[in-house]
Amino acid sequence: MRKRALLWIIYFFDFLNGAYGIVEDFCVLRYTTYVILQKLYGKLGKTEVKRMKKALIIGAGPAGLTAAYELLAKSKDYQVIVFEETQQFGGISRTVNYNGNRMDMGGHRFFSKVPEVNEWWQNMLPLQGAPTYDDIVLDRPMKMAPGGPDPEKEDRVMLRRNRVSRIFFDRKFYDYPISLKVETFKNMGLAKTIACGFSYIHAMIFKREEKSLEDFYVNRFGKKLYSMFFEYYTENLWGRHPSEIDPSWGAQRVKGVSILEVLRNAFRKKHGKTGGKVETSLIEEFSYPKLGPGQLWEVTAEEIKKLGGTIIMNAKVTKIRKEGNHILGITYIQDGKEIEVDGDVVISSMPVKDLVAGMNDVPAEPARIAAGLPYRDYMTLGVLVPKLNLRNKTNIKTIGNIVPDNWVYVQDRTVKMGRFQIYNNWSPYLVKDLEHTVWVGLEYFCNEGDSMWNMTEEEFAKMAIDEMVTLRLISNSDSVIDYHMERVKKAYPAYFDTYEEIDKLIEYLNTIDNLYCVGRNGQHRYNNIDHSMCTSFETVKNILSGKTDRSNIWNVNTEKEYHESDKNAEAEDEVEVD
Ligand SMILES: Cc1cc2nc3c(=O)[nH]c(=O)nc-3n(C[C@H](O)[C@H](O)[C@H](O)COP(=O)(O)OP(=O)(O)OC[C@H]3O[C@@H](n4cnc5c(N)ncnc54)[C@H](O)[C@@H]3O)c2cc1C
Repeated sequence: MRKRALLWIIYFFDFLNGAYGIVEDFCVLRYTTYVILQKLYGKLGKTEVKRMKKALIIGAGPAGLTAAYELLAKSKDYQVIVFEETQQFGGISRTVNYNGNRMDMGGHRFFSKVPEVNEWWQNMLPLQGAPTYDDIVLDRPMKMAPGGPDPEKEDRVMLRRNRVSRIFFDRKFYDYPISLKVETFKNMGLAKTIACGFSYIHAMIFKREEKSLEDFYVNRFGKKLYSMFFEYYTENLWGRHPSEIDPSWGAQRVKGVSILEVLRNAFRKKHGKTGGKVETSLIEEFSYPKLGPGQLWEVTAEEIKKLGGTIIMNAKVTKIRKEGNHILGITYIQDGKEIEVDGDVVISSMPVKDLVAGMNDVPAEPARIAAGLPYRDYMTLGVLVPKLNLRNKTNIKTIGNIVPDNWVYVQDRTVKMGRFQIYNNWSPYLVKDLEHTVWVGLEYFCNEGDSMWNMTEEEFAKMAIDEMVTLRLISNSDSVIDYHMERVKKAYPAYFDTYEEIDKLIEYLNTIDNLYCVGRNGQHRYNNIDHSMCTSFETVKNILSGKTDRSNIWNVNTEKEYHESDKNAEAEDEVEVD
């Protein structure tokens, strides 16, 4: 009788934990009850209560939440606790709702060549089955899933959107990536076109030894095009001149792009030949959650709670307690209090630099490498205006006939602005008054703690809005209706300084038997959402199968092929800088 009562108490704790996400105290009570039961009855026979293993997951961004969901969905043996430093889900891919206008930090295209990822997204947010508001008004055709939800009536919807993105140089629009068509040369003018042609021929004849990113670009585009379209933007983005950046960065991000490649593609497109590879049109469309990328992670967090997982917000993990090569638990800070939690496995999507700094007894070499890993940070200003001074000369229809771009690369040495987003074009549901306002996101790259990072919202807004006037996006600052600033720490894991020694750090981290590093900053790799999710898919597979070799987790998004499907897919032929 007593045994049954104690078992019911355990089930009650499980229920409360699942329903309300109450963790620590109940876990302790549950475990204590379990120990009493074991002591009283020894083996518990058929009704034996298996001690659940505890998975501690650091970070409620895409990687952390994917790991939590997968572990809960695929196993009943794990109690899952996610610790998130902020009060929002989605990490870098969060959506900020400011007075009914939503901001996407950087503009997140959902595109993946991995079928598992696409299915996962669809499961959380089914593809639209009816047109969006703007497609209805403008009578624009868009691919839809029969029976899918109607975005005009439901929120849990994944939209299909057209991707339009151009370069703004010399106050004119150029294709992105640069394409060699008549309009490009018309925009550049005869003198510049000839100069670019000669400099390209020179680069073809006198190839440079590729010691830097500058050499890499010049060899592929010629010095003139490089200085127009790559030099300043790269330096602005990374805070380092391309001559100081390793060429491998270019090799990773600039897949198969050269002027010859651009010409070949133009020819293929013109003649409808794609060599059986991915149709370009496919990568010019992307999926996008109705309410911005953060919506996907808010939905995932709800699903995790339904499955019995716990997410503790406002909980910054500061210490990783280790004995030998095994982690005992973590310590987090919430409302100024330090709280310790023990665990069986730790899945970390926090920046690897901070993770190692929080561990005890790390040998000098990996500690030095981790401490030296560089990042680039990011700030953005959402600006609400009645209109932009940019004329839509394309044949793409838009509400209010605004330019159709999702985002625009600013290549202008007179301003610090790196890009601007036009949220109206990402999803009509990001903007409160779509018919009468344009909601833009001005983007700046900086370093945490530098003079830009330390600006107040007013100072930052003044600088950014003045630059809008300089670029003639608006006539004067009086037309601004409202603005909002957001800072994003460690937006870009950078590939310089101790990064070249990262293999030694990975080797050390792999010696810790119950630690899994996932995601973008968790692995210090330029991972997109899908890559970040794949690192978690692989982690959960390893945990559940007992596989100890972690190379499959670290190999996601490297030259070492990861998924069979990748082998058959064409690399995106573009210079993609997120
Ligand atoms: C400007 C920009 C544009 C991008 N565009 C695209 C795009 O178009 N498509 C695409 O697929 N990807 C894009 N990305 C990449 C995408 O944002 C990332 O791949 C993705 O967010 C990484 O997920 P993550 O979970 O690894 O990390 P994060 O999103 O960084 O999440 C990590 C989480 O951990 C939390 N955390 C950190 N430290 C601690 C701690 N000590 N304790 C507790 N919690 C902690 C953070 O608060 C955060 O919530 C873009 C990125 C940037 C910067």
